[in-house]
Amino acid sequence: MRLILLGPPGAGKGTQAQRLVARYGIPQLSTGDMLRAAVKAGTPVGLKAKAVMDAGGLVSDDIVVGIINDRIEEADAKKGFILDGFPRTVAQAEALDRMLAQKGLKLDAVLELKVDEKALLARIENRARETVAAGGAVRADDNPEAFKVRLDAYRAQTAPVSAYYEGKGALKTVDGMAPIDDVTAALAKALG
Ligand code: AMP
Repeated sequence: MRLILLGPPGAGKGTQAQRLVARYGIPQLSTGDMLRAAVKAGTPVGLKAKAVMDAGGLVSDDIVVGIINDRIEEADAKKGFILDGFPRTVAQAEALDRMLAQKGLKLDAVLELKVDEKALLARIENRARETVAAGGAVRADDNPEAFKVRLDAYRAQTAPVSAYYEGKGALKTVDGMAPIDDVTAALAKALG
């Protein structure tokens, strides 16, 4: 099963992706996680991406397309994967189409979590609070300033990605404002 999970920052993509991982036994490929790991490890990609990420902007298409191209070649992704946070621009979606065609692979579904934008900042603040309470480190971009930039980037660059997949008849939209378990059930139902 090859899936894409779409939705604005704070929509619950990470939480739902983990549940899909458990249900289908396929890995979650999060470009955000991979980029944060690169920043932490101080790789050339990480050094390039850090300032943009901290400010809430988007890393260049070339970098993330390269990361995903390599990652889906790995053994654990052979039976499928859940893309979380990628593609984030129409150019990335087109690059993904070319990449999959070249590898002889097909997407099974594009799942979108629809949420009320007004609730998102509160969710991000809550995520930061819960992380601190659990003794973890808060993401550098989980603050109101960077969040606004992330939401603007989503509206301008990622919302058109939903339309791109809708045009292909691949988009399945789920109410992301429902309780977490209900969202999980709706996603499972959408996948048939
Ligand atoms: P996320 O964990 O998905 O919220 O991603 C955190 C940050 O990583 C984003 O705000 C971007 O700076 C960067 N990032 C993650 N995925 C992508 C992508 N597909 N394209 C561009 N930038 C990305």
